[in-house]
Amino acid sequence: MNQRKQSVNDILVEIVDVVVTKVNPAGQNTVILDRISFSAREGEITGVIGPSGSGKSTLIRLVNRLDEPSEGRIFLNGENISGIDPLLLRQKVAMVLQKPFMFEGTLLENLQRPFVFRNFTPPSAGSNEISRVLDLVQLSPEMLTRDARSLSGGEQQRVNLARALISHPEVLLLDEPTSALDRPSTARLATMLSNICRSERLAIIVVTHDLYLAEHIVDHLIYLEHGKIIEEGAGAQMLAKPQTKAFRSFLAEPERNKNASS
Ligand code: ADP
Ligand code: MG
Repeated sequence: MNQRKQSVNDILVEIVDVVVTKVNPAGQNTVILDRISFSAREGEITGVIGPSGSGKSTLIRLVNRLDEPSEGRIFLNGENISGIDPLLLRQKVAMVLQKPFMFEGTLLENLQRPFVFRNFTPPSAGSNEISRVLDLVQLSPEMLTRDARSLSGGEQQRVNLARALISHPEVLLLDEPTSALDRPSTARLATMLSNICRSERLAIIVVTHDLYLAEHIVDHLIYLEHGKIIEEGAGAQMLAKPQTKAFRSFLAEPERNKNASS
């Protein structure tokens, strides 16, 4: 008998019946997200894929209040985020963008930035906080004195990730984190995200057009089209056996989504 109980991770983010409407350039109200509900669990990677313009970026921006829903609710650990100060929320829900952004100065100064920004004493080069995030993203302490802008694209993306992790977030949002990376850097970042997600018990929500990420590291996958969830399930399984015509034709034409810019 194979009755081994599957352990179910706790829900960290719960999105309930969310609608986003915006005024388009022609002055008309358009629905960007249409009754979206799903949950992201700790220690799991939730992937969001879909064609350009399907609402992926808008969806994750809601989770740290860079955008606000027109209807519906979003909960973090059971608490409605509409009542949480956005700056406080963003310490718990960190975001990593598509293009790595480096502040002027060294790698160390870039990692100290979140502390300086909040008027806290920044951790020093030898501190546990700095060592911890360097370990997580596999950057060597010798690199701390390097000019951050002189680092490679893959290294800069890892600095971005380290800077997001330094505040001990509970949720990590990533918007197309590999779109500027080559295949080896993508594979490396993917393994890293997967390890960090497990070791830090984070809920990761990643928007991606990269089927490599979807197949290799995503636990729970959501396929979005025109602001609606068309298909949802376990990542690799869903890619192997798409259930809807829409998702099948998306998979047949992966290039269609490549130019998503935000
Ligand atoms: P994706 O990330 O999937 O490419 P986005 O979430 O960026 O999609 O955008 C979804 C749709 O919402 C697009 O049609 C875009 O033009 C529209 N949109 C995004 N932001 C705004 C805004 N601030 N005002 C009006 N329309 C917007
Ligand atoms: Mg986008």
